[in-house]
Amino acid sequence: MSGKYQQAGFHLIRHDRLWQEEVHDSYKAKGKLVEPSVCPQCGAVFHKGRWQWITAPEGAHSSICPACHRIHDHFPAGFLTLKGHFVHDHRDEVINLVHNEEKRERTEHPLKRIMAVEEKGDELLVTTTDIHLARSIGDALHHAYQGDLEYHYNPEQNLLRVEWIH
Ligand SMILES: [Zn+2]
Repeated sequence: MSGKYQQAGFHLIRHDRLWQEEVHDSYKAKGKLVEPSVCPQCGAVFHKGRWQWITAPEGAHSSICPACHRIHDHFPAGFLTLKGHFVHDHRDEVINLVHNEEKRERTEHPLKRIMAVEEKGDELLVTTTDIHLARSIGDALHHAYQGDLEYHYNPEQNLLRVEWIH
């Protein structure tokens, strides 16, 4: 049912395994970050080891955050494909839920953002800056409407493909 996701490097996983499988993400390398740093694109501040929505302290360094970096590179970490009769018939409702889930997550976590919502024929393709946002959008859709949900993870590149068919 998901043959086209059998791509090199991706394998099907149980979504609760994702936390254990996560490996190094080069976009989140913190080694060279000086605290505090402020992202000149979005204003997020790197403080106490994580990016936060706080006011930049006086004299903060300037450093682009991993989410803006991915957006600049057009290099998503999460890909959701949404398709099926339900998606077709409830398109706006589904897109609203996707955006609401992003808003909820992004409020706490500046690095969790949607990059794009695209229509490809009858499918919706949602790309995200963070694999865990893709996962939680998939969970939210499944929780709200059921349907079939699959996660395909690529540990080498830390990419997640989510397929929801309903
Ligand atoms: Zn940023």
